[in-house]
Amino acid sequence: MPEGDTVWNTAQALDKALAGQRLTGSDFRVPALAAVDLTGATVRQSTCRGKHLLLRLETADGRHLTLHSHLRMDGSWRTFQPGARWTGGPGHLIRVALHTPKAVAVGYHLHDLVLVPTAEEDRLVGHLGPDLLGPDWNPAEAVQRLAKHPDTTIAEALLDQTNLAGIGNLYKCELLFLRGIWPWTPVRDVGDLMPLAVLAHKLLTANRGRWTQSTTGSLHRGGTTYVYGRRNQPCRRCGTLIRKAEQGDRVTYWCPACQPEPDSER
Ligand SMILES: [Zn+2]
Repeated sequence: MPEGDTVWNTAQALDKALAGQRLTGSDFRVPALAAVDLTGATVRQSTCRGKHLLLRLETADGRHLTLHSHLRMDGSWRTFQPGARWTGGPGHLIRVALHTPKAVAVGYHLHDLVLVPTAEEDRLVGHLGPDLLGPDWNPAEAVQRLAKHPDTTIAEALLDQTNLAGIGNLYKCELLFLRGIWPWTPVRDVGDLMPLAVLAHKLLTANRGRWTQSTTGSLHRGGTTYVYGRRNQPCRRCGTLIRKAEQGDRVTYWCPACQPEPDSER
């Protein structure tokens, strides 16, 4: 599942494949952009903010445009050698293909694919909180934004990209386990939020540059998480069976012993 680090890796891979390259063709397969032709535009940079991908281009007549995309749960960008078979998924999931002499970038099941003037990127990403993998990461501001939602559960507050940008469901579950916090704890009862913000940054940074997400230090299949995806398996710390439940529109995994419900302690 794409989280901030996966998006960061994708932005890097696209930058490596496309930056400085001139498009020899573009093929948009979404209605709103079907008539757009970026042939002749030069790719200036591929970057990201939170989980939003920003591909910055300069057209032949000097306009600066940004192609925005979001991976959500199931989207991906893949790059191929010109002439190579596209192996990223079924053809009907392709939303765009960008051709250059050296590489073809194909976007599968992308969401929120829009083209805006680069100067107006803020319309798309200006609402985001501090970016965990951005150059301007600011834990104090992230804590301040989290604290503005005292009644929200901490699990939902961590997923709210306007508080801090980059955490998806896997890191949400793992962070709360590592800090021993019951996922339904209201933000106001968590206590000091700074260690959570600092740990979130540490975990995402550790996974930047590789495609396997691990919070345990292990890259072995089945060993990469403490609680995420481990329903009914023994907690790596205490042996209690990991539980799974719906929370908001996502699922949460937690260890009932390592992350006790506050009331149950009294
Ligand atoms: Zn446990």
